[in-house]
Amino acid sequence: MEIKIYGDSILRKKCLAVAKIGDEEKQIFDSMVKIMRQSGGVGLAACQVGFNKQMLVVDCQGKALRLANPKIYQKKGSFAIEEGCLSVPDIKVRVKRFKNIKLKALNEYNQRIVLNAEDLLAVVLQHEIDHLRGKLIIDYLPWYKKVKAIRLLKSKRNQNKSR
Ligand SMILES: [Zn+2]
Repeated sequence: MEIKIYGDSILRKKCLAVAKIGDEEKQIFDSMVKIMRQSGGVGLAACQVGFNKQMLVVDCQGKALRLANPKIYQKKGSFAIEEGCLSVPDIKVRVKRFKNIKLKALNEYNQRIVLNAEDLLAVVLQHEIDHLRGKLIIDYLPWYKKVKAIRLLKSKRNQNKSR
């Protein structure tokens, strides 16, 4: 498993719901947590490592939450920080998010759970849920900044290829 970088088409796909958390999904979750930790990230979506599944992991005070099929059903307030993304290297975007969210999801034991998140955890969850819909932080930029960001990402991608 490796982190997919901007330009890889899987990052723009809508991920599919998971029918059940089985052994394969548990393994994917474990690998995702490992990669998240190694890369120093606070969250990771399955599509970022090549799986078109509605699965994400987030760091919650040192503990990794593993969630599938997350659905936000309540949201309020607003909160914004500069967000980075392992798939969009060296770009930071201030994204306006909800401050408080409640979501339903499946956990790694295949149980339906309800989660209440606020502030940073809520931001990370919304960022990862965006990934499951093929949405990236650069999509929140005004168009002229987005054009610049894409140019930068493309030139980096080409540099890496020629190495
Ligand atoms: Zn991201």
